[in-house]
Amino acid sequence: MILNVLSGKGGTGKSTVAASLVQLLAEKGSVVAADCDVDTPNLGILFGLDDDDFEKNTVSTGTKAFLIEEKCTKCAKCMGICVFSATSWENGPVFDRYACEGCGACGLMCPEGAIELRKVENGWVGKAKKGNIGIATGQLKMGEAGSGDIVALVKAKADRIKAELSAENIVLDSAAGIGCPVIASVLGSDYAVAVTEPTPSAFSDLKRVLKVVEYFKVPYGIVVNKSTLNPGFAQEIQKFAKEKNVKVLAELPYDVKFVEAAVEMKPVIEHAPEFRPLFEKILGSVLESRQS
Ligand code: SF4
Ligand code: SF4
Repeated sequence: MILNVLSGKGGTGKSTVAASLVQLLAEKGSVVAADCDVDTPNLGILFGLDDDDFEKNTVSTGTKAFLIEEKCTKCAKCMGICVFSATSWENGPVFDRYACEGCGACGLMCPEGAIELRKVENGWVGKAKKGNIGIATGQLKMGEAGSGDIVALVKAKADRIKAELSAENIVLDSAAGIGCPVIASVLGSDYAVAVTEPTPSAFSDLKRVLKVVEYFKVPYGIVVNKSTLNPGFAQEIQKFAKEKNVKVLAELPYDVKFVEAAVEMKPVIEHAPEFRPLFEKILGSVLESRQS
């Protein structure tokens, strides 16, 4: 099973939920956790790992425009075409490394073939192991494009770790939002756990991300995190789920122990076992829906 934990809005507790589900699965056998939030990966931290614990490989999935100066006649035909505002003129064309998205439009305008698209190192992917848990992760370099491609590489690495460990399940910790990294992670998932919190902005973002999940026909359930902060709004989300005929897998209370677990770099169920039944309920519902 590929279980995707996602949320429209950042900060809802998606990685917190993912880490405890991974921990529960690890008690039954090997499992793979894949951190698909390649802009700000932090799933490893919740298992007590830091950057140096990962075996990393740099990757090149993006291209950038480069000027071949000896071919350039300074005709300026490449100016004004870039919709990403990556070109400027300083005694000749200049291509901004960070703004360039590698679309190639400027090169098409150049009669001299003086603009070349070159592959650039735009991130890394890595792996680590903690007990029964294999972890795949990746990170996009600052200012680089291609987050969706890095997510695809993280998922490929997770598949390889799954084979190495003979694991049955992969848990993906998706990025927030509805952009390329989310789409890349949702593709091919067997079930999605959509984590939200009882606030209007989180609810609005939840509805947006559910459209992505529904588009790819991935079955899903909802987790309302920090529900005790705003019980009235949590009821709104319950009502929404009922109208859509979607299961609310659990409501998790707001509790300082969730924060303490993050500080201790541990999954919540390890730091505060009293919350274990709630996460067992989530996992139980997911596994049940897979069997039906
Ligand atoms: S390759 Fe595309 S994004 Fe990059 S500078 Fe040229 S037109 Fe702009
Ligand atoms: S279009 Fe080509 S030759 Fe003309 S200024 Fe741009 S890079 Fe130079």
